[in-house]
Amino acid sequence: MPKCSICSNKIAELFLSKIKGTIVHKPGSSTQYPVCFECQKKFKTKEELLAKLN
Ligand SMILES: [Zn+2]
Repeated sequence: MPKCSICSNKIAELFLSKIKGTIVHKPGSSTQYPVCFECQKKFKTKEELLAKLN
């Protein structure tokens, strides 16, 4: 089960490997950062999400 890159909570998986949340990419990197639904709600823009990633 994937973990949120921001809060480390486990992310619920829906059908077909879709997660309840989103996946963000850093510019110029192919690394995927799963983000949970709650953090997605807290940080509305991709820029805010990226700023919270390590
Ligand atoms: Zn989270």
